[in-house]
Amino acid sequence: MKAVVIGAGLGGLSAALALAPMPVVVVSPCELGAGCSSAWAQGGIAAAVGSGDKPEYQFKDTIAVGNGLNDEDIVRQTMDDGPSVIERLEKYGVPFDRDAQGNLSLGLEAAHSKNRIVHAKDATGLAIMMALIKAVRTTPTIEIIENARAIELVLNDGTIHGVILEKGGKEIRLNTPYVILATGGAVALWRDTTVPHENWGGGLALAAKAGATLGDLEFLQFHPTAFDIGRDPMPLASEALRGEGATLITESKERFIDELQARDVVARAIWEQMSQGHRVFLDARTALGTSFAERFPTIYAICKSAGIDPTTAPIPVRPAAHYHMGGIVTDKHGRTDVPGLWACGEVACTGLHGANRLASNSLLEAASFGWHVAEDIKGTPSHEAIEPLREKSNLVHIRDAARRLSPEEKAQRIASIRALMSDNVGVIRDAKGLKSISEELAPFAEVSDRALVGLMIAQSALKREESRGAHYRSDFPDSRAEAVHSRIRLSDLEHLT
Ligand SMILES: Cc1cc2nc3c(=O)[nH]c(=O)nc-3n(C[C@H](O)[C@H](O)[C@H](O)COP(=O)(O)OP(=O)(O)OC[C@H]3O[C@@H](n4cnc5c(N)ncnc54)[C@H](O)[C@@H]3O)c2cc1C
Repeated sequence: MKAVVIGAGLGGLSAALALAPMPVVVVSPCELGAGCSSAWAQGGIAAAVGSGDKPEYQFKDTIAVGNGLNDEDIVRQTMDDGPSVIERLEKYGVPFDRDAQGNLSLGLEAAHSKNRIVHAKDATGLAIMMALIKAVRTTPTIEIIENARAIELVLNDGTIHGVILEKGGKEIRLNTPYVILATGGAVALWRDTTVPHENWGGGLALAAKAGATLGDLEFLQFHPTAFDIGRDPMPLASEALRGEGATLITESKERFIDELQARDVVARAIWEQMSQGHRVFLDARTALGTSFAERFPTIYAICKSAGIDPTTAPIPVRPAAHYHMGGIVTDKHGRTDVPGLWACGEVACTGLHGANRLASNSLLEAASFGWHVAEDIKGTPSHEAIEPLREKSNLVHIRDAARRLSPEEKAQRIASIRALMSDNVGVIRDAKGLKSISEELAPFAEVSDRALVGLMIAQSALKREESRGAHYRSDFPDSRAEAVHSRIRLSDLEHLT
């Protein structure tokens, strides 16, 4: 029986390759390599492979950033996997940078206590994806369906029996007891975002409608300095610029924050300036001057294409939604609580990141869990996968009726949901904004998957009456003594819709 992998980023392709020689279908809404965050990752993949480093040190760094919400067993498992993930990727032909002695070149990123960022120049994600795409295209047991997206999970007594795809206006039903959701994050649901448009949380809607539990949805990492030049998605002005001494200033040249503080602290400081009507700029004129183009060629090219010369003018920036820590709750094998449904990569909430993500742990998580999911499926006979493991779900599975809107109506609906998310579930939240967006989205949640996902995120943020990690409530600025995960199911929304 073929397994079906929905989504073709690092999580999905890792799972498909690890499942071979078991037959697999991989579904991607675009040509392989397009429409996924994995190919956009620049920095690299964190793994304790350097001399003097140990998975235990990376474990400690990850826990320190996660603000009490990491699942320690999952963190340990993932950090221990680091070296074998790098080895596996190299076997597929990923050209990671090495020094003259042949050792992996390891970068250092914020909140890592050791140099452990394995990279391929400044386009690591693209290098990884190119190698894996070549591998999946040449694996005879992997069938690839491009330009198709999953629109419904087929269930029988609460158990996965298949998936329905939409391709070129037609529906295709694939029968399978094994579905792997690897659809990436929900971050394109925000207006100000750094991720591809395909990653708006469609996988969360599919899972929720199938009866799966979602968790920690309120935890979303905002990148403090995305280019504010009217592009969608917004290009990143890397943290490395601040590391090199670039400063954050307002239009009246006022500095307002120590630029090297944690990502969420800097993002909040910028957000506050903007709420007071200021514009914010990243000023690299003194720190980098004429060396800018040589040190940061990609960012320099973006500046030039926007008519900005960063050697003589500051770069306009604003915080943008960047990474979703929450997702479909899974165990250490990537199993969800719906029999026959697994999830891996950014769509999953494994407990690795807790309330905040340590930089470059996300590519590691996607590759590591893709492999764990495959191992688990290979050890799960199809009759076991389709046997109900818990009480039957009575949920009615409704298609995303937004598909029936005209293109103009659909674009308008999407734009308004994205604006609502950025304005009310942004860097700084409060009950007023979260209640207001819930009231706006609730009437559409039954007919629009985007509204449904936005509503679930807003409700999770409303219920967390504290500030922790990436979730900041101006009306509850302190953390509670006890760190508690949030969980939400579709049935929790019944009174709202
Ligand atoms: C600009 C940028 C820079 C980053 N830099 C780093 C970094 O340096 N290091 C790091 O660790 N992380 C980084 N990240 C985060 C990291 O890239 C992601 O967390 C990771 O790639 C997620 O992998 P994934 O396979 O889960 O999702 P993705 O790679 O996003 O793949 C998801 C796939 O699912 C598809 N899909 C979505 N919905 C459907 C549907 N309904 N049906 C079928 N397919 C669907 C998408 O089109 C896509 O193919 C960065 C992210 C961005 C945006």
